[in-house]
Amino acid sequence: MPVFFISSNQITHGQVTITGPLCDHLRGSLRVTDGEEFWVGDEQRRRYLVKALQVTKQAILGSILDERAGPSASSPPITLAATILKGDRMDWIIQKTTELGIATLVPLVAEQGIVRPRPSRSDAQRERWQRIAFEAAQQSERWDVPTVTSPVHARDFFAGQPAQATKFILTERCEGASLQSVALPAMATKTIIIAVGPEGGWRDEETDQAIQHGFRPVTLGPRILRAETAAAAAVSIVQSRLGELG
Ligand code: SAM
Repeated sequence: MPVFFISSNQITHGQVTITGPLCDHLRGSLRVTDGEEFWVGDEQRRRYLVKALQVTKQAILGSILDERAGPSASSPPITLAATILKGDRMDWIIQKTTELGIATLVPLVAEQGIVRPRPSRSDAQRERWQRIAFEAAQQSERWDVPTVTSPVHARDFFAGQPAQATKFILTERCEGASLQSVALPAMATKTIIIAVGPEGGWRDEETDQAIQHGFRPVTLGPRILRAETAAAAAVSIVQSRLGELG
C-alpha cells in the first residue's frame, strides 16, 4: 500500500482524522477496516504508521503507532520550466518529472508555443496540474510533492531567477555545452533550473534574453527531441549525476 499524503493539521494528540477523497479511497477502494495499519506522510516530510480505530463513510479515525522523519534533502532542488504543451503532453511532463524528483514545475508561455493559457481557466488548470503532481509523488512514494506554479511568460521567467541559481536552457540545433559535463552545484541550498522550449522551438530573442540572465545553453545531442522527451531526458541526466537515480 503506498504512503498517502495528508496535512499535518489532521493530526492531534497522537490521532489522525482522514476525510474526503482519501477516506473514500481507503474505505471504498482499499477496503480498509478497523484495526488495519497504513502509512501516511505530511508536508513536513514526516511519516506516520496509523492503525484504523473507526472507519465510517464520513471519516477514518486512526491512532499513530510510529513516526519517521524523512531523509534530509541532500541534492540541489530542480526547477523545471516547461513550455505549456498541447493536450496530455503537459500532464505527461508533470507526471514523469515528478517521479524523477523535481521540486518545482513552472509552466512557461513561449512565443512559438501552440497553447495560450486562458486567464479565466488559469487557476483550474494549475490545480489540475498540481493534482497530477500530487498523485505522481504519492505513487512514487516521495516524501514531498512538487509545486506547480501559475504560468509565466518565458521572458519574464528568464529575467526573474536568482543570480545564485544554476540555470540551463535546452537549445536544440546548437553547439551548447553538454548536460553530461557542465558543472552542477553540490549543496542542497542551490537550485538548478532547466528551461525547455515549445514544439516550435525557442525564438532567438528568447534564447538571447535567457543567456543575458545567466542561463547556459545546453544540448542533448544532435537529435531533435519532443519537448516532453527533452524535459524527461534532461532531468534524468541531472538527477543521475547528482546520485538521485541509484
Ligand atoms: N521546432 C524545433 C526545431 O525543429 O528545431 C524543435 C523544438 S523541440 C521539439 C522542443 C524543445 O525541446 C526545444 O525548444 C528544446 O528546448 C528541447 N530540445 C529538443 N531537442 C533538443 C536537443 N537535441 N538539445 C537540447 N534541447 C532540445
